[in-house]
Amino acid sequence: MSGKYILDLHTHTIASGHAYNTINEMIRAAKEKGLALLGIAEHGPGMLGGADKFYFQNLHILEREKYGIQVRYGAELNIIELDGTVDLEERSLQDLDYCIASLHYNCMTPGTEKENTFALLTAMEHPKVSIIGHPDDGHFPVNYEELIREAKRQQVYIELNNSSFNPKGFRNNAWENNIQILKMCMKFEEPIILGSDAHREEDVGQFSDAQKILDFVEFPESLILNGSAESMKIRNLFG
Ligand SMILES: [Zn+2]
Ligand SMILES: [Zn+2]
Repeated sequence: MSGKYILDLHTHTIASGHAYNTINEMIRAAKEKGLALLGIAEHGPGMLGGADKFYFQNLHILEREKYGIQVRYGAELNIIELDGTVDLEERSLQDLDYCIASLHYNCMTPGTEKENTFALLTAMEHPKVSIIGHPDDGHFPVNYEELIREAKRQQVYIELNNSSFNPKGFRNNAWENNIQILKMCMKFEEPIILGSDAHREEDVGQFSDAQKILDFVEFPESLILNGSAESMKIRNLFG
């Protein structure tokens, strides 16, 4: 990690079913890496092994500051229908600090570009959704211009997901698709947010692959939300 980024809002713990550290381990790892804010967004129940609704409804008992850093608790919602339906109901969404909404190949059969785009636009209408997770998966073609225009209007941010570039990962054409996304964000001056998508403590705050593509397209630092405390304007995180 370069040290210039101080927040990571996309991490998972053992509660997600296929991640391997506890909340406390993830917070300590974030602290060691110099982060000021860690977000833990567990997979919702639509994913095999994901956390159930009572897990999310009880997150209010956890302190939002621990080991000297800020911690926020949310969900990575699975979009499970092409109409934008997500896998947690209103009652469970109410108490979450924030949500990431994502398309996952193992949770919904991809539609056409128009259908996938509609699903993302509808999901982001929910006031708890702050981030669209990894919209770069070639399994789900998306109209990036429409997505980014609407994200800007709704003050929702598009994620550049470090794990999308993992050669053992499940996403297709991440490099090519992210070049399109980043260029579109530059055109519309829409900030992006880097997410590690860490499923183990070693990967918290790990943005090195994302950094390569940012450098490649000469993406302006002023449009990267992870940079400074003042840039923590993300919907829902601070009051
Ligand atoms: Zn996962
Ligand atoms: Zn995801």
